[in-house]
Amino acid sequence: MLKTLRRIIQEVASAEDFKEALNIMVKRVAKALDTQACSIFLLDRGRSEYVLMATQGLNPHAVGKVRIPVDQGLIGLVGEREEPINIDEAHKHPHFLQVPEVGEDNYKAFLGTPIIYHRQVLGVLIVQQEEPRRYDESEEAFLVTLAAQLASIIAHAEATGVVANLYETHDIKQGNLTYSGIPSSPGVGMGCGVVVYQLLDLDGVPDRPAEDIQTEIELLEAALASSREDFRILGERLHPNLPLAEQSLFEVYQRMLDASDLGAEIIQLIREGHWAQGALRKVIQSHVRHLESLEDEYLRERAIDIKDLGHRVLGYLQRNEKALPKYTDKTILIGEQLTASDIAEVPEGCLVAVISAKGSSSSHVAILARAMNVPTVMGVSDIPIYELQDKEMIVDGYYGQIYINPTEAVREEFQHVVLEERKLDKSLQVLRDKPAQTKDKHRIALMVNTGLGTDVSLSLAAGAEGVGLYRTETPFLMRDRFPSGEEQRIIYKQLLASFSPRSVTMRTLDIGGDKSLPYFPVKEDNPFLGWRGIRITLDHPEIFLVQVRAMLRASETYHNLRIMLPMITDVGEVDEALRLMKKAFADVKDEGYSIEMPEVGVMIEVPSAVYQARAIAKRVDFLSAGSNDLTQYLLAVDRNNTRVANLFDSLHPAVLRALLQVVEAGHQEGKHVSICGEMAGDPVAVLLLLAMGFDSLSMNASSIARMKWVIRQFTLKKASQLLQEVLGMESAVMIRCHMELALEKAGLGSLIRAGKRS
Ligand code: PEP
Ligand code: MG
Repeated sequence: MLKTLRRIIQEVASAEDFKEALNIMVKRVAKALDTQACSIFLLDRGRSEYVLMATQGLNPHAVGKVRIPVDQGLIGLVGEREEPINIDEAHKHPHFLQVPEVGEDNYKAFLGTPIIYHRQVLGVLIVQQEEPRRYDESEEAFLVTLAAQLASIIAHAEATGVVANLYETHDIKQGNLTYSGIPSSPGVGMGCGVVVYQLLDLDGVPDRPAEDIQTEIELLEAALASSREDFRILGERLHPNLPLAEQSLFEVYQRMLDASDLGAEIIQLIREGHWAQGALRKVIQSHVRHLESLEDEYLRERAIDIKDLGHRVLGYLQRNEKALPKYTDKTILIGEQLTASDIAEVPEGCLVAVISAKGSSSSHVAILARAMNVPTVMGVSDIPIYELQDKEMIVDGYYGQIYINPTEAVREEFQHVVLEERKLDKSLQVLRDKPAQTKDKHRIALMVNTGLGTDVSLSLAAGAEGVGLYRTETPFLMRDRFPSGEEQRIIYKQLLASFSPRSVTMRTLDIGGDKSLPYFPVKEDNPFLGWRGIRITLDHPEIFLVQVRAMLRASETYHNLRIMLPMITDVGEVDEALRLMKKAFADVKDEGYSIEMPEVGVMIEVPSAVYQARAIAKRVDFLSAGSNDLTQYLLAVDRNNTRVANLFDSLHPAVLRALLQVVEAGHQEGKHVSICGEMAGDPVAVLLLLAMGFDSLSMNASSIARMKWVIRQFTLKKASQLLQEVLGMESAVMIRCHMELALEKAGLGSLIRAGKRS
């Protein structure tokens, strides 16, 4: 069964289009279960009806026409119950609905299973048979498994408008194609798609028109010739050791790369206007699709050979290419899994929006995009990345929507949103030099998170009172080796000088998780539970010491440095880091630098550190809550995983209680307690943090004015009352609604839309 199941899924996945995929599905299932009919009904949510979309065994003319209301018939019952229904004499069932057009009069046995994706019923898959009988358990399990697999294909087709197109009643106008993902950085970006792709990833090669057809043909011919030569040499080298059949393999490869075989097909596509890499991808993919759909196992295996050929030719085509995309002055960066360096490589002032197929709003890429004030949508799993090069688009970072080739009306609507936002920002500028103080005179310091993207002048212009978190991994991410101590000293010194006399909290290297260095790869099954942050730097004291010494040397003259340790889970790690820091301090002093021992603090971002916050606070000068990781670890939600992104919520009662505990523990030891996770810049959370007693909040530069606005509209008394109220609530949803209502009542409703993230 497993083998059949795999085969069906593979065939369905490699179908030319969605309609064909459904047809393959019904045919193969009917055959596999040796039953007379198999059909797929999809739910047209707009009209609350199931539509027959494919069938083997029912009237083929009914496809696309027969519609069954959601609350009627056995189909409706399967959808409503959200579980399989298996009956031997369907026509006797009280829910049986007579639909003469489908031609099912002779069928008695019925087994139907819902097709569910992310808790939503998308349709119903049924099998039928003339003899009255119950399908057995293994047949039922088979159908349920297939339906679960089919669900993601249908969800993809729905998201891309393909399904609605098939309903015929819907009118998907060209130019209104939308995709949705996780809203990850607010704002609206209007511009042109620029696809970032990995070199040597054939499936990731974007479509692009050929700039010069002749040049592209020449490039391809050279790549084909080099690949043929490779196979000739390989064949010769292995010759004596190979049996006869295998000897000819390399000759076959060479012939396939000939100008008369695959080569001819690729050249034909180039002549039609595609660039060589795109033409290669199309030809290889179509052959692979065909081979993978064949019954013959030997021939199916040949798909691997074709892929291999394609990769080799691609390697030659990309040999002299640095995969730097062609940026435009309104670049919308798109990629499968974008990284911080992808963002950093876009020339200054050219990045208007970011779209990533993977990741969530808590991924570091999203955090950096927010710091740069660039509208971002993450986790857009359905988007056809390689078709989007040079496409005009609008990215709505508030609601996570992407509009491809927007119509004039859509464009105008968004221009209006942009204007409104500018107006709000302008009106908030007057708050720049005002303190973040409540109406009853409770003052809290607002600091900035820096790293990539937030330039110093932007932070100062926003009224930041210092740097609450400098993510030092940024200079490490943007190089092809560890930066030297001197390189680091220069970078750190610039930052300390620009903010002097305000304090700058530098965090020691926090790589691992979703931040891996290209030159120091860490491959793990569970990277967020693995070798990360302080665990790496304590295992590599040479990296840690070089960094701390560079910070200390940079602090001469300014004396505004604070150092913070990430991912601490145990006091032993604090003791060891302090020992190394003291050593570094003594070394730098011995070198003749006139420095002071900086304040040292610890990030509380792991549950164990919450419970040991007091013991940790005893050892250091300050604590800083990292609500991003704390939420991830308390709720067991991978912050980088699109599938569970909806579960990531820092307003979860467990997170709020943990934060409260951290503040209390720090204050019991008389230490400063701050928070530097994204929550600090969320208007819905800021009053709660204030009431908890945090001494400072550190956030993106763009959030400072907005948070100041919130704080200045309330009294500490009111904030404390709100905190008490939400601490009595049992779910993040209730807490969020409660806080949104409070902001609304205070006349700050416009911030809620701007603050929406996930
Ligand atoms: C955090 O975890 O809250 C934090 C500020 O650190 P980062 O997002 O860089 O992991
Ligand atoms: Mg963290």
